[in-house]
Amino acid sequence: MPHVALAPASRGSRLAAAAGRWEAILASRPDLEPALALQKRLLGIVVELTETVEQRPLPRLSLPPRYLAAKLVRGTPALAGEPIPLPVALLSPALLQLCEALAQGGAGEAADHIRTMIEGGQMEAGSLLSASVSRDQHAIRTGAVHRGLSPDLVWLVAELAVSPYVHALQRAMFRAEDATLRAALADWNRGYCAACGSWPALAEVVEGHRVLRCSFCAFAWELTTYACIYCGEEGEPFVTAAPDEERKDRRVEVCGSCAGYLKTVDTPALSPFPLLAIADLETMDLDVAAMEHNYARPPMKEFAVRR
Ligand SMILES: [Zn+2]
Ligand SMILES: [Zn+2]
Repeated sequence: MPHVALAPASRGSRLAAAAGRWEAILASRPDLEPALALQKRLLGIVVELTETVEQRPLPRLSLPPRYLAAKLVRGTPALAGEPIPLPVALLSPALLQLCEALAQGGAGEAADHIRTMIEGGQMEAGSLLSASVSRDQHAIRTGAVHRGLSPDLVWLVAELAVSPYVHALQRAMFRAEDATLRAALADWNRGYCAACGSWPALAEVVEGHRVLRCSFCAFAWELTTYACIYCGEEGEPFVTAAPDEERKDRRVEVCGSCAGYLKTVDTPALSPFPLLAIADLETMDLDVAAMEHNYARPPMKEFAVRR
């Protein structure tokens, strides 16, 4: 069952689950208080926007299930290379709110500059959000540098602002009853997301099922192989280790062939969108452990799209 369906979540259940997890992080890592305060504000904006997006009908995409299935069979994510119409007026206010939260949360002028450029129209919200949906790191970096903005911050605000919509699209696209698409999803055995092409933020292991979780759209899928998700290595260079002997439920998979790593945590249930960001923060020590040994997460994969 490589494609795992997520139970629908409401605003209340998302916020309640988030609050409990933030409290637990703070109890064990009081030093993370500023990072937590910022994440609360950012995810608060994303949760509100998710609520708004989910109350509206999604535009009908001209992406027939069989066409999507054929793409998946070729290893191309469903959204790659597709012009996706975005509700820019609905998403833009969140872009500005996210910039404000970041400015107050420590990013200061760097975030203020982005807000000013978007408000003044020097940076067009629609193009920015589209580039994020296309996972076009090159376009976002070039556009940011050209305007004297921080590429990483621009990437972050665009990703957060458009993610509720991409999450909704992903669910709508893959909900189709079409047998061909169902089969293509069931056969999806790649390390990157079948919807948007992002690498997973981490793997959540629920009752022994190692479920990869997309860092952008929260897609959940399981591979049929236990191997490096980046290069497919399954021999000796692929090692799973728990940096903390006492916490075997929190592990990293590291690969000597491609130098990539993946965080893997045992959890009672999959995190609903957008709580993967909290899971990421909860496991920051695993990133540190992997990076101390010179492992890294590879850059976004690029897809040559055949139309
Ligand atoms: Zn995705
Ligand atoms: Zn590898």
